[in-house]
Amino acid sequence: RAKQGGKNGVRTFQPTMGSETAERVDVERDLREALSRQELTLHYQPLYAAPAGTVTGFEALVRWNHPTQGLLPPGKFIGVAEDSGLIVPLGAWVLGEACRQAAAWQAHGPVSISVNVSPLQFDQPDFLGTVKEALQSSGLDPHQLILELTESVVIRHPESAVAQLQELRALGIRIALDDFGTGQSSLSLLRRLPIDILKIDRSFVQDDGGTLESAQVMVGVMVTLAHSFRMAVVAEGVETEGQLALVRALGCDGMQGYLLARPLSAEAARALLVTTLPISA
Ligand code: C2E
Ligand code: MG
Ligand code: MG
Ligand code: MG
Repeated sequence: RAKQGGKNGVRTFQPTMGSETAERVDVERDLREALSRQELTLHYQPLYAAPAGTVTGFEALVRWNHPTQGLLPPGKFIGVAEDSGLIVPLGAWVLGEACRQAAAWQAHGPVSISVNVSPLQFDQPDFLGTVKEALQSSGLDPHQLILELTESVVIRHPESAVAQLQELRALGIRIALDDFGTGQSSLSLLRRLPIDILKIDRSFVQDDGGTLESAQVMVGVMVTLAHSFRMAVVAEGVETEGQLALVRALGCDGMQGYLLARPLSAEAARALLVTTLPISA
C-alpha cells in the first residue's frame, strides 16, 4: 500500500486522482472530525483460556460510529488512519479508553485487556510515554495489559523494536504477536523477540479451503514452536465445534472466535464478566 500522505496528513488534490483516492481523502477528513466528535467506540471480544473455556480477558477492537454510514469496522478506516498519521491520536485514544474500561472491570475479578498497536504508532518516539500515561490515568495494573503487534512492526528495525519491547515488558506489560504465520519474519528473528504470546492467524485455524486434518498439522507445528520459545499460544477465529476441539486437543493456551463470542459492546462484555467470574472479596 502506497503511503499517500505525510504524518501531518496534508495532501493536495491532483486531477489524476482516481475515485478511490478521492474516497480516501473523504474518509480522512471525516475521521479527523470523528476523533474530536467522539464517534469512535470500542467493542470487546472475549479471550478464553484453553482447554478450560473460562474468560481471561478481552481484545479491544475499534469501531467508528459514522453519522451517515452506521457502525464501521476497522477495515474501513485503519488503513487511511495509518497512511495519514491519524492512527497516532486514534491509537492513543484506544489505549486510554481500553485501559480505563479494563480498570473498571477488575472489580469483577482479574481480567486482561489486549490492545492492537499499528506500526506508525509503535514507531512514535513517545509511544512508551503514551502507554505509561494510559496506565497511570486509568490505574490499570500493567500486568493486565497486552499489546498486540504484527510481524510488520518488528521486521523493519528489529534492533530498536526489540529494545522498545523490552522496555514495555519491564513495566509488566505482555506482548502478543498478532496474525502469526501471515508475515515475513524468520524463525531466527522470532527466537530473538521478547514476545509472550503468539496468536495464530485464523487462516490456519480455519485452514481456508483445506481440511481439518491440514489445520491440525499447521496449528500443531505452531503450538510446538511457541512452547519451545516459552511463549503462550492463542488460536484466533474459532468458528466451528471441530476447530474448537482441535485447538483444545493441540494444546493452545487461549482461544478466540465467533463460536465462543463475537466482539461485544462494553455493557455486554461487563455482563459476561459478572456471570462468568467469581466476585473477588
Ligand atoms: P485482529 O487484531 O487480528 O482482530 C481480529 C479480527 O478478527 C477482528 O475483526 C474480529 O472481530 C475478527 N474475528 C474474531 N473472531 C473471528 C472469527 O471467528 N471469524 C472471523 N471471520 N473473524 C473473527 P475487526 O474488529 O474487524 O478488526 C480487524 C483488524 O483491525 C484487527 O485484526 C486489527 O488488526 C485491526 N484493529 C482493530 N482495532 C484496532 C485498533 O484499535 N488499533 C489498530 N491499530 N488496529 C485495530
Ligand atoms: Mg489483534
Ligand atoms: Mg489477529
Ligand atoms: Mg487478524
